[in-house]
Amino acid sequence: MSTGISILLYHQIGEEPGKHTNLDCFCSVEEFRLQMEYLRDSKKQVVSLAGAIQRMASNREIKNELVVLTFDDGCERFYDLTFPILNQFGFLCTIYPVAGCLGKPASWGKIQNPDLKILSSKKIRELSDMGVEIGAHTMNHYKLTELRNEVAYQEIYESKDLLQEITGREVNSFSYPHGAYNPTIIKMVEEMEFTNAVSCIEGNAENCRSIFELPRKYITYFDGIEVFKDKIKNNGSKAISTF
Ligand SMILES: [Zn+2]
Repeated sequence: MSTGISILLYHQIGEEPGKHTNLDCFCSVEEFRLQMEYLRDSKKQVVSLAGAIQRMASNREIKNELVVLTFDDGCERFYDLTFPILNQFGFLCTIYPVAGCLGKPASWGKIQNPDLKILSSKKIRELSDMGVEIGAHTMNHYKLTELRNEVAYQEIYESKDLLQEITGREVNSFSYPHGAYNPTIIKMVEEMEFTNAVSCIEGNAENCRSIFELPRKYITYFDGIEVFKDKIKNNGSKAISTF
């Protein structure tokens, strides 16, 4: 049997893409349900991000394929569309809301998307109480590598601080906006006492070069169930960088 850890990267799960929707960042709710049914019926095990990292750190042989579910940006529909499905299957996950846009439409850089509203503080608190891990994804979704160091630091620090205040829990995981980072940014994340960070490097996670550069597998609107199955096969880490 093949083994390995696939950390899946989703953004928006919705009924229909709107006219402003980036289809690379959208998955229809029907496809998402089919994907979750496949995970349930296969021999793969859906685990929390912390659980997968523990398995990686313990040097124990990973005996089957582990899948971790992550959702970037904190789309509001996560609350009423995505979470009920995950809850039905008993799957854990991590979400990374853009902390400067809570309760508002997405507005960062070139993205001005009235079709994409970000979760409110209240809903984030409720989801955290129901077992969803909340990770940080900065305040304003800038490419951290293009900011002055002090500004990048503030972007990361304030998002962690705000989400910890909202949830009353430690925020341990960080997701680099646009997958952009460099050694200076990694050092900041480590020094702020995050325990791990997810990237947009494509591939399996078990042999990653650092716990602060965890590879993921992007799921998009164009991925039918066969493409999905293929993506989560244990195909090793490819060193693709998106910055
Ligand atoms: Zn993002």
